[in-house]
Formats: sequence, structure tokens, C-alpha cells
Amino acid sequence: MVRADRVCKNYGALQVLRGITLEIPRGQVLCLIGPSGSGKSTFLRCINHLERVDAGRLYVDGELVGYAERGGKLHELSPRAAAKQRRDIGMVFQHFNLFPHRTVLDNIVEAPVLVKKVPRAKAVAQARELLDRVGLSSKADAYPVQLSGGQQQRVAIARALAMEPKLMLFDEPTSALDPELVGEVLGVMKELARDGMTMVVVTHEMGFAREVADQLVFMDGGVVVEAGNPRELLANPRQERTRAFLSKLL
Ligand code: ADP
Ligand code: MG
Repeated sequence: MVRADRVCKNYGALQVLRGITLEIPRGQVLCLIGPSGSGKSTFLRCINHLERVDAGRLYVDGELVGYAERGGKLHELSPRAAAKQRRDIGMVFQHFNLFPHRTVLDNIVEAPVLVKKVPRAKAVAQARELLDRVGLSSKADAYPVQLSGGQQQRVAIARALAMEPKLMLFDEPTSALDPELVGEVLGVMKELARDGMTMVVVTHEMGFAREVADQLVFMDGGVVVEAGNPRELLANPRQERTRAFLSKLL
């Protein structure tokens, strides 16, 4: 579903991604860990068209992200074509970014109706199903401010799912939550994984990574330092940098 081949990204002289190579097969979950500033968010943002890759190739579902290749040369996609690619990718951020002046239901219905032109009644029915799935059936008419952080994040997940994405990106989805609310969000994500969603999750919840991820990737300084099966990697990190990072987490 995702293939990164020596992906590089610079901000001016700052090399943030220095050749990221990895693959995520369809239906699998990859957890991405690494110190602050190592480029994790930038990598997700490249997948989601929020940043442009400067070198290397990035593919989602076999399609080059943001570019078309013709005669061996890369051409930037038109905004319209890029928007079409992006529509299939859901993203959930640390801060939930719900529309504060809309109800929970309207938050979820908005994108399918406006972007995908789904008839409103159908979008509402789908939104209610999604709310049920994230355990918030009773909150359809509430406003975000009336919900806990964990509930808001579950609405944000439902909102992303409403676009029927083929790939979900999570950037530290539980970092802003009070500890007692983390579990309910991870629970929803775990079920999503069980249902076969392809997911990239930046998280420092190692219990989740151990239980749910197919791959665990440790990034530092814009490169993949170490990657592998989460249980093996956590039990037996091969690289000193990985060991040092993990010892600080525990
Ligand atoms: P992480 O998510 O692993 O903490 P980021 O991807 O957010 O790391 O950031 C990686 C590096 O890129 C940091 O040094 C950060 O300051 C820098 N950076 C991120 N976004 C920008 C930007 N828009 N302009 C300039 N520098 C940026
Ligand atoms: Mg980040």
C-alpha cells in the first residue's frame, strides 16, 4: 500500500528526511517511533501530500505521490489530480481539529457531502454507523467542547473513516490525552487494524506497537535506524541508538 524508496525532504539547508526506504503491505500496521525532530511527522505529511518529496520515490497503492512519470521524467500532478489521490488517505493528528461550531454528526458528514458528493441522507446514515463503531452513538448531536479528549479523538477517527480511506495515518493520536483516556482511542485503532485497515501510526505506546503492529520502525535524524517485528525489536534492539531511545521510553 505504501512504498518509500530513498525519500528525501529538505527545509532549506535542513535535511529532514535523508533517504527513507520502507514498505507497508496492504492490511498491515506500521508503528513509527523516534526522538522529537527525527522526521516522523514530515514523513506522514509527505504521504498525505502536505509536503512535497524532494528526492526519491513515494508510492501509495502503486501510484507515485504528487507526481506523474512520463518518459522517465517526473511531472507534478495538477492540484486536482493530487487532491484525488489525497482523498483516499485519512489522517488523525495529535490535536483533533474538529470544527468547534458543528455537531459531532456534522463534523463527520461534512467531507463526504462536500468532497465526495455523497447524498446527505446517505452520509448521515454512514456517520451514525461510524459513531456506533467508535462507541459514540449517543453523542451525535453534541458539540466537540462537550466531549472529553478521548471522545473527540474518536470522532476525529470516525470523520477520517467517513471518506472510506484505503490508508490511515495517525500522528501521535494519544499524546495530548490524559492517561486514563488513551486506552479508549487505542481500542478503536486496534479494532480498525483487526478489520484490515492499512495504518501508519506514530506513537510511543509500546504496548500498542507490540500487540498491533506488523512492523516497528525506529527513525532518528531522518533515517530508518532499525526496523522489524515489534516484539523482536523491543526485546532485542540491535542498534545502540535504538537501545538508548527505548530505555528512555520505559
Ligand atoms: P518529528 O515528528 O519526528 O518530531 P518533524 O517531522 O516534525 O519531526 O520535524 C523534523 C525536523 O524538521 C525538525 O527539525 C523540525 O524543526 C523541522 N521542520 C518540520 N517542519 C518544518 C517546516 N515547515 N519548516 C522548517 N522546518 C521544519
Ligand atoms: Mg511529530
